[in-house]
Amino acid sequence: MTAAEAPTEPATFESLDPRTGDVVGTHPVHDAAAVEAAVARAAQAAQWWADLGFAERRRRLGEWRKVLVRKLDDLAHVVADETGKPLDDARLELVLAVDHLDWAAKHAEKVLRRRKVSSGLLMGNQAASLAYVPIGVVGVIGPWNYPVFTPMGSIAYALAAGNAVVFKPSELTPGVGVALADSLAEIVDGRPLFQVVTGFGETGAALCRAPGVGKIAFTGSTVTGKRVMATCAESLTPVLIECGGKDPLIVDADADLEAAADAAVWGGMSNAGQTCVGVERVYVVDTVADEFVARVTAKASRLRAGSTGDFGPMTMPAQADVVRRHVEDALARGGRAVVGGAESVRPPFVEPVVIVDVPEDSAAVTEETFGPLLVVNRVPDVDEAVRRANATGYGLGATVFAKARGEEIAARLRCGMVAINGIISFAGIPALPFGGVGDSGFGRIHGEDGLREFTRPQAVARQRFALPIPVTSFARTAGGMRALVGIIRFRHGR
Ligand code: NDP
Repeated sequence: MTAAEAPTEPATFESLDPRTGDVVGTHPVHDAAAVEAAVARAAQAAQWWADLGFAERRRRLGEWRKVLVRKLDDLAHVVADETGKPLDDARLELVLAVDHLDWAAKHAEKVLRRRKVSSGLLMGNQAASLAYVPIGVVGVIGPWNYPVFTPMGSIAYALAAGNAVVFKPSELTPGVGVALADSLAEIVDGRPLFQVVTGFGETGAALCRAPGVGKIAFTGSTVTGKRVMATCAESLTPVLIECGGKDPLIVDADADLEAAADAAVWGGMSNAGQTCVGVERVYVVDTVADEFVARVTAKASRLRAGSTGDFGPMTMPAQADVVRRHVEDALARGGRAVVGGAESVRPPFVEPVVIVDVPEDSAAVTEETFGPLLVVNRVPDVDEAVRRANATGYGLGATVFAKARGEEIAARLRCGMVAINGIISFAGIPALPFGGVGDSGFGRIHGEDGLREFTRPQAVARQRFALPIPVTSFARTAGGMRALVGIIRFRHGR
């Protein structure tokens, strides 16, 4: 359900189809009071949801999964209308989100339920146990590039872990957020378990400040991520920060070049390059570079941006300027365009651009482009590829194409996730945690870590019998302490 009305009639804003500029929806700008009211309602729903227990939550989330599958095409249309992406790309997002929801619902109990842990020799008189209990209300702030898949990485896992969610979608994709929340309403008897607040950055900031929010899960740019963290610092609200990346793809000399080229082009161009784990830089070993570039050139030149093209427009209009600046800078510094060029930027669309031999200090190599621009640089060997891949503040995902040394190369990369001989495969595997290091943020969605991220560990030690030598009492004796130190010397001092 959407947040109920604020005391006064809220201002509204329009959501547009970026392909045409047509208005596809009108949404309220929720102010701080409306956000706080939503969080207060969520707190009550959170208690009800937590009290249901794992089995009933799993059952209800299973029902939600079926609703999402039933409405898959309707939701895909909302996604396509607000992002401009091809309908099949929207369907793919939904398919992946449903699979993650299923995994989170089915694994929550096993991962989070109270379990016994060893109490150790010294504390052998205690029974120790650990449970991961819900936080209460989780605030999710989402981006526009994958308006279902990305926030669902937080929403599905937070709900499965027993929390309520207040979701602030991007101002570019509010309708997707509302449609998602509406789809859950029927399986929670209309309770405000998953609410949406809409508006601009201020609404997101109000969610960070709202009393009662136990954690904020943010996905978006590094700059905004830092702002979110600063706001949350005021109330010591913990944050999970998923920011952008500058993901590299490494091609070793023994790689399947056809598969590597296909992956580079899909990883760089699909969704018009607006993918946080999209391929932005390719490092290809010299001996196979010519053949690899020829294959990439052939594949990328066949692609077209457009309303009915292989990929859609820049969802955020200002992004076209970023892509143009990166292309012009790369060319001015000596890069050579093998597909497209500065003229490929025709807002709202950007045709594929592939530039080779781009200096490593140019914007197209150091900054997130978030557009259909692929930089391909040749390197003498894999060691140099790894060095360059790691020479950025970002560290989200990476791809390696290699036959013999794939896993060895992967282990040397400073990032959260690596796909070997595949593309973005880690994101589709629900058991694998998703997240980055450095400027790409911290914390994890997906997998067991993603479930635990939306809980707090609760440790319990229950005394089973009193120790013969009391040491945590004013009644302790010098002899008792000598005996204890003797035990420790015997056990740990040799
Ligand atoms: P932002 O990081 O600015 O926005 C992400 C989310 O944060 C949106 O819901 C936004 O709301 C919200 N927000 C904005 N300001 C605040 C604030 N002060 N406090 C709390 N929430 C806030 O991304 P943009 O949409 O502006 O995109 C900018 C760049 O970020 C892109 O060009 C791209 O490089 C990168 N990006 C990376 C993504 C990723 O997946 N890692 C996803 C999206 C963008 P609102 O939309 O209403 O402003």
